[in-house]
Amino acid sequence: TNERVFNFSAGPSTLPVEVLEKAAAEMLNYDGTGESVMEMSHRSAEYKQIIEDAEKNLRTLMNIPDDYYVLFLQGGGTLQFSMVPINLLTGSKKADYLITGNWAKKAYEEATKFGDVKILASSEEDNYSYIPKFKPEDIRPDVDYVHICYNNTIFGTHCNEVPDVGDHLLVADMSSCILSEEVDVTKFGLIYAGAQKNVAPAGVTIVIVRKDLVGKAPANTPVYLDYATHAKKGSMYNTPPCYPIYIAGEVFKYLLKNGGVKATHERDVEKANLLYGYLDKSEMFKPSVAKEDRSLMNITFVTGDPELDKKFIAGAKEQGMINLAGYRTVGGMRASTYNAMPLEGVEALVAYMEKFENENK
Ligand code: PMP
Repeated sequence: TNERVFNFSAGPSTLPVEVLEKAAAEMLNYDGTGESVMEMSHRSAEYKQIIEDAEKNLRTLMNIPDDYYVLFLQGGGTLQFSMVPINLLTGSKKADYLITGNWAKKAYEEATKFGDVKILASSEEDNYSYIPKFKPEDIRPDVDYVHICYNNTIFGTHCNEVPDVGDHLLVADMSSCILSEEVDVTKFGLIYAGAQKNVAPAGVTIVIVRKDLVGKAPANTPVYLDYATHAKKGSMYNTPPCYPIYIAGEVFKYLLKNGGVKATHERDVEKANLLYGYLDKSEMFKPSVAKEDRSLMNITFVTGDPELDKKFIAGAKEQGMINLAGYRTVGGMRASTYNAMPLEGVEALVAYMEKFENENK
């Protein structure tokens, strides 16, 4: 095809066309330097500007206070499953984890290697179809932190408010929802997010961490795994993921130009309402998760007949709508409607769903 498809992938996922066009235009010669950002020394003045602007613009977008570091790291969300316990299990060495999906469970399993880590609540037995409730009293009183996954990419659930953890330190994986809603960063000790959904191509992971939490990792911590290493050097201790940080910076500029996180959220709500609205009235397609915990970013649904699901997904592909299959262990459908998915993409999807439903009654 010569046309761009509507890519509903859960990540890596669609990026704003305007950003891709700018990157293409700058590919061979970035800002008169005669070289591409891919080829540029990370110690050059030009690159220093790129990474500093990226941090500054992310701080503006998310209203990140000065007592938090913003780090650009490698290793994906997965490395944070290890770095969080290594760096934060420094008091009682206890942490409680809310199990809301595969990624939350992976984070928990990794953390059990480093301390006394328990499950606070879980919806695993109900196929993670809702966010389990808990009370601050359910948290062990002396935990070093509580870990949640704010948006569950695979199942399509989302914490529609910040869970009440009392005075405890809250850590959140925001890989699949960062920059899709306004969050009060001060309610969190640490937020992390892989970039490959709302921010950039895969390769950079954002960590936003309160400064007083950094610098307490055990002495035998591998240098890369200690947040202090990166905090002291402005994410430049070693070669950073230069190109993904550059694209992230361009996405941040794009978001600022288009009304910031508030306006982005409004567009995300409009898209999600369109699709959920159809799912709520359809006789064929059923939403997979509890209404009050619905994600704006990953919208999951089924027909109830795996063969019909397959036919739907194949037909969508022919219409230029790709990656609508649910996660490999879950089945059904998942439409990821990240920030960069245009409204037209969701309109086209709903129109196709209506047509498919009529034709396959
Ligand atoms: N957390 C969440 C919520 C995710 O969706 C993913 C991957 N899609 C991960 C963590 C793992 O991230 P990575 O592949 O970057 O290690």
